[in-house]
Amino acid sequence: MDSADGRTFTSFSPATREPLADIAQCGEADVERAVNAARSSFDSGAWSKLPPSERKATLLRLADLIEENIEELSLLEVADAGKTYSDCLNEDMPGVVECFRWYAEAIDKVFGKVSATSDDALSLIVREPVGVVGAVLPWNFPLAMLSWKCAPALAAGNSMVVKPAELSSLTALRFAELTREAGIPAGVFNVVPGPGSVVGQAIGMHHDIDAVAFTGSTHVGREFLRYSADSNLKAIGLELGGKSPQLVMPDMKDNLPAVAENLAVAAFANAGQNCTAGSRVLVHSSIYGELLQLLVQEAKNSWKTGDPFDPGTPMASLIDEAAKTKVLGHVTKAVADGAEVLCGAESLGTEADHNFVEAIVLGGVSPDMDVARNEIFGPVVCVIPFETEEEAIQIANDSVYGLAATVWSNDLNVAIRLSRAIKAGTVGVNGYSEGDIGTPFGGYRESGFGGRDKGLEAFDQYTELKTIWVAVGKN
Ligand code: NAP
Ligand code: MG
Repeated sequence: MDSADGRTFTSFSPATREPLADIAQCGEADVERAVNAARSSFDSGAWSKLPPSERKATLLRLADLIEENIEELSLLEVADAGKTYSDCLNEDMPGVVECFRWYAEAIDKVFGKVSATSDDALSLIVREPVGVVGAVLPWNFPLAMLSWKCAPALAAGNSMVVKPAELSSLTALRFAELTREAGIPAGVFNVVPGPGSVVGQAIGMHHDIDAVAFTGSTHVGREFLRYSADSNLKAIGLELGGKSPQLVMPDMKDNLPAVAENLAVAAFANAGQNCTAGSRVLVHSSIYGELLQLLVQEAKNSWKTGDPFDPGTPMASLIDEAAKTKVLGHVTKAVADGAEVLCGAESLGTEADHNFVEAIVLGGVSPDMDVARNEIFGPVVCVIPFETEEEAIQIANDSVYGLAATVWSNDLNVAIRLSRAIKAGTVGVNGYSEGDIGTPFGGYRESGFGGRDKGLEAFDQYTELKTIWVAVGKN
């Protein structure tokens, strides 16, 4: 469908910088249309009042359709968002299918509560869909982030207005077609591609949107709190940035090659454009030298950049030229501050006409350097030595963020003590992990608040809690 004023914007391939498609560029009038469609469909009950078992059947059909189209969706995401084909086909898209199946299966099995009362009352605590839900999404995991928001929101009976990132709108548009094919009624799922400063703001400020789920930068997350305060106090769920520490304790000395391999996955997967990227490796001084060397080898041998369509390519380019400039700027500043580039230096100081950045390992980093504190969102990892467990905890928690962490120790006492001490929404023990679809995901501190993605906890963002108090008479 065209935008109200007929405007379009061009989507580019991150790997080649070539134009891919012209997409309808929505504006405020289009957000208005989408919200009206969502509101009418919600009020009509065509989706919101369906028995949960029927919404479940429709969402299971949708999951099947995503699975049938998994290659097309993967190729679209590679072309538009520059992710590797192997990641899209083997991880992101199967995750999307699983996400829709999981929430479809859950929705007819979550019950309300009956609280303890005296005989003269019956108290029911029930959950209802909030109504019209807005979702504003990032470009790094386009369809995966859409699924984390839309699967629970749709399963709960809401209608939606979804804004993908301008840099990665194609899979959301294709997904919208699949929702209709699956039988989700017209008006329930609406996509409004366009710039965040216009479309995202119009969603945030809209008086007839009841809740917004946002994944993106901490800076724009703050804007959404302002939008809510300046409009209808809509509920805001924020999943924001991170600077996740990976702590390697001295007892890992006999397993360092395996540790280094996993540390590199945490740092370089999706070219480091990952909110939970393990971008700060904190390692005990007794194993610092050896682990650093192994990590450099891993970075050089296993994380080469290449054509994202080649199934053998482990790491693709960054999303665009601005991202590359920003990432390399962080590294240049780190060098000026005294850090040492141990691999990937060939990416620095070139005016190359592409968005590729090689995997970069930085040594000689101290915890107070900017590179150890700011989110970089590229394939850059800093390695910092520590002496004691207390110091490791202190460095790990010395951050405005608190999204994720990994703890490496085979000593159960140490592993549990560290897991408890670290201020982060997800702590992996002996392996980098975001959990699975059944575990809640989100951050402490400036990594976000207002709800969790994944798990049954995600329903809290997309439902209102109601108490129904019934007076019970004697006759
Ligand atoms: P971003 O710049 O904050 O953009 C996210 C979304 O917000 C995009 O759709 C963007 O639209 C929109 N937006 C931009 N400015 C806006 C404004 N003034 N008002 C309303 N909406 C606006 O973030 P990004 O660069 O896409 O993503 C990277 C960030 O996301 C990183 O900080 C990363 O850590 C975080 N992230 C967090 C998680 C998590 O679960 N915690 C997951 C993935 C990513 P346009 O881009 O189209 O203009
Ligand atoms: Mg693109």
